[in-house]
Amino acid sequence: MLELTDHRNPKFEEVHYTAAPNRYTEVYMDVTNICNAMCKYCLTGNKNRRGENKDITPYYMTVEEFRRLHEHMLNHDIITPDCIYRIYNWYEPTLNPHLPDILNYMDEVGIRLDMSTNASKVLDFTKVKSCEKWYGLLFSMPGFSQESYDRMHGFNFEKIKENIRTTLKEARARGFKGYAMINYHLYQFNIGEVQAAKAFADELGMELHTIFAYFNGGGGKGNYLAGTLSPEDLKDASRDLFFWHIDKLIADKERYFKEFREAESITLSERCNLIPGRGSNDDSRIKSIFDVTSYQEIHDIYEELFDKAIQNPQFGNNWVWAHSYRMSWNHLFGFEGNTLI
Ligand code: SF4
Repeated sequence: MLELTDHRNPKFEEVHYTAAPNRYTEVYMDVTNICNAMCKYCLTGNKNRRGENKDITPYYMTVEEFRRLHEHMLNHDIITPDCIYRIYNWYEPTLNPHLPDILNYMDEVGIRLDMSTNASKVLDFTKVKSCEKWYGLLFSMPGFSQESYDRMHGFNFEKIKENIRTTLKEARARGFKGYAMINYHLYQFNIGEVQAAKAFADELGMELHTIFAYFNGGGGKGNYLAGTLSPEDLKDASRDLFFWHIDKLIADKERYFKEFREAESITLSERCNLIPGRGSNDDSRIKSIFDVTSYQEIHDIYEELFDKAIQNPQFGNNWVWAHSYRMSWNHLFGFEGNTLI
């Protein structure tokens, strides 16, 4: 799981848009409202740990709903026809049993798919017709041992490796040629496992992207920066996360505002509601996308939110930390770096 806090960066006027203006080329969204992992520093995983999600009724987007969404955004010139749909924000896409139908529809109409998964489940490939237009596959890993999986995701590590192998094999058999990458979350306890993850990535023809794990949602970054994180949370974090790089990130933030820039994007919840960005979920819904009929309307909504958010003196610091997932720390392990695309 990745996190963003906003759709644009604080130097927006100078550097932000890298794609065709006036229509979105990228959509971030979920296709379900559940994740089965227990990641301590993720909003969803933390709620799973505390049992706060146990009464949630699972929602699985259907292909009909997805088609309605795509046609609406296309017919109103909100997106480009070859828009990338990045189906990850707060939940695990492979848990949706309708996902193969959605993927087949995406393929039919020329959508580029980017999917991030925790690999706890293999998609039912017997129902998937083609993976030729898939843009990318990202496997999110909290380490490379059973001990690390016990500390974060809570899955059987051998099963995860098997699922990654199967997913890649089946996708490639259906024409997948996009990027395949392990998104390795660096914690203090898994530093010694990076070399093994790299060997696994090499064996399967994948890239390895190492990032420092951080507070993902729930205000942890803001509280840490403001010195208001609770002593219990600070104690926990001091045993799991890395912080030495934060001061430098902030000191060089003008540079990183540029380096971490992304194409202008829209973020939707699994309920097809417009939400403020990747740091938020359906609880922060603004309005249904079906009540929006132009790119400009969304753009204006995001502008207004941005103008308010930037009033917070910590906004830029928080932004640069949240976007540091784009930065590879591979060089620390003697590997070539790479950037998320
Ligand atoms: S796998 Fe991703 S969405 Fe699920 S709990 Fe972990 S970080 Fe959160």
